[in-house]
Amino acid sequence: MKKNLVIAIDGYSSCGKSTVAKALAKHLNFIYIDSGAMYRAVTLFFINNKVDTAHDKQIAEALQQIELNFHARDYQSHITLNGKEVSDEIRLMPVSEKVSDVSALKLVRHEMVKQQQRMGTFKNIVMDGRDIGTAVFPDAPVKFFMTADPNIRAERRFRELENKRGNLVTLEEVFENLAHRDYADTTRKESPLTRAEDAIILDNTNLTEAEQLTFALDKVMPFLSALKDSLL
Ligand code: C5P
Repeated sequence: MKKNLVIAIDGYSSCGKSTVAKALAKHLNFIYIDSGAMYRAVTLFFINNKVDTAHDKQIAEALQQIELNFHARDYQSHITLNGKEVSDEIRLMPVSEKVSDVSALKLVRHEMVKQQQRMGTFKNIVMDGRDIGTAVFPDAPVKFFMTADPNIRAERRFRELENKRGNLVTLEEVFENLAHRDYADTTRKESPLTRAEDAIILDNTNLTEAEQLTFALDKVMPFLSALKDSLL
């Protein structure tokens, strides 16, 4: 019987998880899934619809009204929220400021994890996030845990945001936001960000994108070879 392979990538905010994940997916012809985009899209819906996160009933009702879909184009993940493309909007500050609070909600996590697990059944995927190797796919055979110097991360994110329409943010604000999200993500009650025991650490502070891909492929290849013809 054919088997699928799941590659899980977790790590701190803006440390290049999606860059490695996309490069791996492209190289291996796997599907890339950006789980953070799902939490961001839910957050955007909560902001636009003034969902009161102190009330479980409102959260549950809101989640029922949300339909998320990914559209892969050139291994860039585009996400739609109820049919509308929101890939750029979810990266802007209003969402970044709220997303860690929304993603800490039990009902939200429960629904997102369910959807993510469904996406990883019978498909070869690379999924990045905060709890992929610990909660979503704890049995994934290949797991990476990414980290990088916080100043480098803030600079990278700032440069990325500078190129986006509607962004009016300073480097200090980006740094603060990353620090806040790291703290919130690692200390929350529901599946906090932590390294799975069997996750390979990838610190990319001083690595080029090409070097990161080489490093990751080197770890993935033995699993692919072992699966050989049984890989889906
Ligand atoms: O990956 P990205 O930085 O876009 O994720 C945005 C936020 O979504 C994170 O700071 C975290 O609060 C939340 N998240 C999560 N679990 C995931 C992916 C993202 O809690 N698997």
